[in-house]
Amino acid sequence: MEMENIEALKTFLSTQRKVAIVSHRNPDGDAIGSSLALFHYLSRYGHDATVAVPSDFPRILNFLPGSEYILVHDRDANKTDEMVNEADIVFCLDFNALHRIDKLGETIAARDIPKVMIDHHLFPEDFADYGLVDTTASSTCELIYDFIGLLDDLKTLDHVIAECIFSGILTDTGSFKYGTSSKLFKIVSELKDKGVNDVELQNNLFNSQSIKQIRLLGYCLTTGLELYPEYGTGFIVLTKEDYKKFHIKRGDTEGIVNYLLSMRAIKFGALISERDGFVKLSLRSKGDFNVQEIASNHFNGGGHKNAAGGISKDSLRNTMDKLKGLLPTLKEQLVEPKH
Ligand code: 5GP
Ligand code: MN
Repeated sequence: MEMENIEALKTFLSTQRKVAIVSHRNPDGDAIGSSLALFHYLSRYGHDATVAVPSDFPRILNFLPGSEYILVHDRDANKTDEMVNEADIVFCLDFNALHRIDKLGETIAARDIPKVMIDHHLFPEDFADYGLVDTTASSTCELIYDFIGLLDDLKTLDHVIAECIFSGILTDTGSFKYGTSSKLFKIVSELKDKGVNDVELQNNLFNSQSIKQIRLLGYCLTTGLELYPEYGTGFIVLTKEDYKKFHIKRGDTEGIVNYLLSMRAIKFGALISERDGFVKLSLRSKGDFNVQEIASNHFNGGGHKNAAGGISKDSLRNTMDKLKGLLPTLKEQLVEPKH
């Protein structure tokens, strides 16, 4: 893995700087884990680093050290904009197009400061001066480890930084179910040597659901479930009323879409949720079936081959019809031909 001009970046960071670290809307474990890992790393050198995200993150991530300092643009636009406007350099983590961070992206685009992109999504936009982009990486957290390695500084990576990195790797790989490589397993071995208690991390990340979330999961797998086995496809549908009935908050639906893929017959799963004024689609697939293409071609979105997302401004009914309408042409990729 290489980063062009790494020496210039090293020189820039050899003086104490005001550093803005930003990640994407609806931040997940990788967005928050990578941002906090970099925050702790740069803070060790006396940089004045701040993490900002467009919208709030799941409360399950509150255990991560430093999460209490994260600025959320939806809650505190003035402070967040001020932070970006005063920064000497900005790190953009776990996203590759400035529109993915809404207003915060406009503020960043207007600033003539060095911009660094560290990301693993497909088709990056060309807005950064420095890029560490690897679409084969499991997670942006893996790339933060690589970045510190490129700075020849893995000795500074302590157990706090290691815990943040390990968390993002766990969430983005579904606890090592996908996106793995022998390189990744070597990295997590190093992280464990730094003192990470991975069992405790897994408990914090995956065994900390509320009763409400489990009841919601039950609903999603019964009333909310729509299966089309003839197309190897399953949907979970949540209406605006469901959001009210179950008091669904950010992060409550995290991971639910993956249950669709736990069925042998299902190769393509979609969580379709009706929000105020738009419909959000969270797409997952197995094997070679590419949901990134579906998200970017039809739902103004993007992501990875096996995990992508997008939105529709159409009604829930029309959005579902549009997605269902795509299935016949995709059938060959979704079901094994009968002999
Ligand atoms: P999730 O379904 O967990 O929200 O997102 C899965 C993947 O797709 C993530 O890597 C996320 O960054 C990406 N993604 C989700 N929603 C969008 C979207 O609206 N636009 C783009 N470009 N990517 C998205
Ligand atoms: Mn990620």
